[in-house]
Amino acid sequence: MAERRPGARNIRLRADSIDGAVRITLPPRGGLAEAATLLDRHRDWLARQVAGWPLPLPFVPGAVIPFDGATLVLDWAAGHPRLPQRCGDALRLGGPVDAVPARVLRWLKSAALADMEPATRQLAACVDRNVDQVRVGDTRSRWGSCAGSAAGAGRIAYSWRLILAPAPVRRNVVAHEVAHLVHANHGPGFHALLAELDANGAASKRWLRTHGAALHWVGRAA
Ligand SMILES: [Zn+2]
Repeated sequence: MAERRPGARNIRLRADSIDGAVRITLPPRGGLAEAATLLDRHRDWLARQVAGWPLPLPFVPGAVIPFDGATLVLDWAAGHPRLPQRCGDALRLGGPVDAVPARVLRWLKSAALADMEPATRQLAACVDRNVDQVRVGDTRSRWGSCAGSAAGAGRIAYSWRLILAPAPVRRNVVAHEVAHLVHANHGPGFHALLAELDANGAASKRWLRTHGAALHWVGRAA
């Protein structure tokens, strides 16, 4: 994938482990020959990056997906009830097989919200703040975001993919966003409050750095 950026001065080569793309950024004009040289020179490096990318994990019958620090097997059979039902380490669901990916995704999103919304409201109450809205989306670059805290009540959004991670990882992201209800920046006050709300945050941050990219490959067909 090559793209020209109006502000780019140098040619940049990037291997993106989140969406599995190799990107070359070029200045508005020219640079193609240099880009080819750059690609050639970094061929081994690129091959190593691509080999290290996680494998796509589509939501198909029999797939074993990460969930809440453990795994769930997608147990589909036409005769099972359509609505996904968690039974131990299986997620049972029925209905047309081509509806499986969308139905599993919907179930994971609602599980993410059912977990993180009460946790967020509970923790926000501890710091005397209100939360107007908690929702889940599918952000690429951030696990959570907090807006509107200056008005006294914030809107917090999370990546639904956090439900795939162990619970302490979610607690850390929740604590991070709730701390933003009090401090809009990442200053010392913010970090002091975050440490109070989640004393073991370092391990969770490490986990996301190591495994975060792989979560973006869950539910992907290719
Ligand atoms: Zn932040």
